[in-house]
Amino acid sequence: MLNIVLFGPPGAGKGTQAAKLVEKYKLTHLSTGDIFRANIKGNTELGVLAKSYMDKGNLVPDEVTIQMLESEVNKIKNPVGFIFDGFPRTTPQADALEKFLNSKDTSISLMLALEVAVDELVKRLLLRGVDSQRPDDQNETIIRNRIEVYNNQTAVVADYYSSKGKFEKINGIGAIEDIFNAICLNINNYN
Ligand code: ADP
Repeated sequence: MLNIVLFGPPGAGKGTQAAKLVEKYKLTHLSTGDIFRANIKGNTELGVLAKSYMDKGNLVPDEVTIQMLESEVNKIKNPVGFIFDGFPRTTPQADALEKFLNSKDTSISLMLALEVAVDELVKRLLLRGVDSQRPDDQNETIIRNRIEVYNNQTAVVADYYSSKGKFEKINGIGAIEDIFNAICLNINNYN
């Protein structure tokens, strides 16, 4: 199986690139943010809990997030592979994912990290907030908190994969198609 972690700060373009990867490699895209938002929309117990964290730009607790992600993976019958987007976001999540995938005789193939400077991220997220109705994209203080949470809690997850020789950086600034080509080059080199 080809299992990719798409990594990078909020607004780096993970969702955009994930959609293109799904089409090309027929992978299953699992975005924890999207799954939480679907739960919020459906007013589930999980959604109510997640919203209280997301609206402030903080992370949803690991235990809840890990359990949700594993249950989403288990729903897919005969997967070709997965794109994990927004997960793992902490070291305990990375540990849990590794154990979980190992129990299924598979593992993460590669983490691809989209790199974008902070000012550009803030600009992109505020722009997205105009159309998306995402409350966490509509307030610069919350956006900056998410970037800080990324720097403080999430950025270290890169070391986890880097130490296993499974980490590549991608320049996330430029044309969507050029970024996609850079991603594909890395995947094809891996394969
Ligand atoms: P972005 O990458 O633009 O911040 P996401 O849709 O990935 O957007 O995530 C939105 C919010 O959902 C995060 O700020 C966080 O509150 C919550 N969330 C998503 N993934 C995780 C995760 N793996 N662990 C904890 N919280 C998460």
